[in-house]
Amino acid sequence: MVRVRFAPSPTGPLHIGGVRTALYCYLFARKMGGKMLLRIEDTDQGRFVEGAEKYIIDALNWVGITIDEGQGVGGPHAPYRQSERKDIYKKYTQQLLDAGKAYYAFDTSEELDALRETYESMGSAFQYNAATRINLKNSLTLSKEEVDGKLADNEHFVIRLLVPAKEEIRFHDIVRDWVLVHSSAMDDKVLMKSDGMPTYHLANVVDDHLMEITHVIRGEEWLPSAPLHVLLYRYFGWENTMPKFAHLPLLLKPEGNGKLSKRDADLGGFPVFPLEWIDPASGSKSIGFKQEGYLKEALINFLAFLGWNPGTEQELFSMSELIEAFTLERIGKAGAKFDINKAKWFNHEYLKQKDDTEIVEEFLELAKNEGQNITKEKALEICKLFHGRVTFVKDIFNDCQFLLNRPEIYDQTSIEKWTTEASSVFAVYANELSTIQVFDVDNAKNLLNSICESKNVKMGKQMAALRLAITGSLSGPDLMKSIEILGAEETKLRILNAIKVIG
Ligand code: GLU
Repeated sequence: MVRVRFAPSPTGPLHIGGVRTALYCYLFARKMGGKMLLRIEDTDQGRFVEGAEKYIIDALNWVGITIDEGQGVGGPHAPYRQSERKDIYKKYTQQLLDAGKAYYAFDTSEELDALRETYESMGSAFQYNAATRINLKNSLTLSKEEVDGKLADNEHFVIRLLVPAKEEIRFHDIVRDWVLVHSSAMDDKVLMKSDGMPTYHLANVVDDHLMEITHVIRGEEWLPSAPLHVLLYRYFGWENTMPKFAHLPLLLKPEGNGKLSKRDADLGGFPVFPLEWIDPASGSKSIGFKQEGYLKEALINFLAFLGWNPGTEQELFSMSELIEAFTLERIGKAGAKFDINKAKWFNHEYLKQKDDTEIVEEFLELAKNEGQNITKEKALEICKLFHGRVTFVKDIFNDCQFLLNRPEIYDQTSIEKWTTEASSVFAVYANELSTIQVFDVDNAKNLLNSICESKNVKMGKQMAALRLAITGSLSGPDLMKSIEILGAEETKLRILNAIKVIG
């Protein structure tokens, strides 16, 4: 049975890269008929941010990634919040200590800082490892009495992993193939801090084992930690059930060079968080995909393609189609450009598929917030008119302003479209509009046509000028439909005004 976990740290709002990781975990779990777990990795108390856990759960809920087991849902391996599992980690750290695979280190941070500086001044980097640990203050160099004395005196200590001096650590990654690291390049990572809290590495491995995780799917930034995790599995004797690894490619800046950052997003004016986030400490607000008007279907489809492809031409995939098509083997190694225009394209496509009745509520909400009172009936007409043309519902609101406000100025560069016949045709048209029994596109058009015929002018040639009179410019959606929405009276007023001003 496949069991995957999404294991975010609640250190702030969930980054969009985290949503992609969660999505790939979810797609794989569903595809394999397995289970999707949510584990909150909050052992780094210094980086804990109030509200971040709730944000993670809200964001997953919004995009439709459902959790089978874990934080917020419960399950046989509860608790799923690491800060509540301290005793478990203590027990396993003791096991490593007893087996001589981990040791106490009493070096103070001042001593380690001084060492780092010395090494730096010699042009190298200090590592706590097989080469240096024999000269440092730890249970490998101190006598048992000294160690016991220090522990009894509550002296500051950490517990470190004993990394072998010379050994090749090899493991297979589904995305990267074989990864080989020499243990001399690794350092004796801290497993447990003196406050009794484990570090990420220990807690992560212990929990993946206890929670029977079969596949670890996570971002590439964790690839350097994987050899250490492999070593831990070996030391614990859990190699036979070690999960398979799949490290997902980085998300790159829209231009493709370098890792995507919040700064790139701010400069480009696009979000990197699924939902809006207000920082509890500073009160500063970060925009979210949802509030920017992205549909969850579009965001999911966009994220699915950031590092994975189906190997066919098909681009539009619903969640269930993604589940059907998804395989870990089709995840690429190369970083994925965060092309926000592609996200917009997806949104345009998915918005087009929505029913007008589905988008009208959002439109009305926007209008209300801007102090514009529009009847639901009229709002529906407006949504219908713009629907296929826009990327976001907010575009409908911006673009429909000419329907809500009579033009006061007319685009100067387009005035030449006002032909000599325009004033005479439109004067008659404006006056006869009220005679139309059923004011709709066909009848409004037929009336204009018959007036043009009687004056022996081509109707087609008058359309640009009519558009100018109605909207103030030459661009916009279907003109006769716009006239239908405006109604006879408003259309008449607009035409008469244009005759006065332009004519
Ligand atoms: N807590 C880690 C994170 O915040 C999890 C990494 C992993 O999946 O192992 O991304």
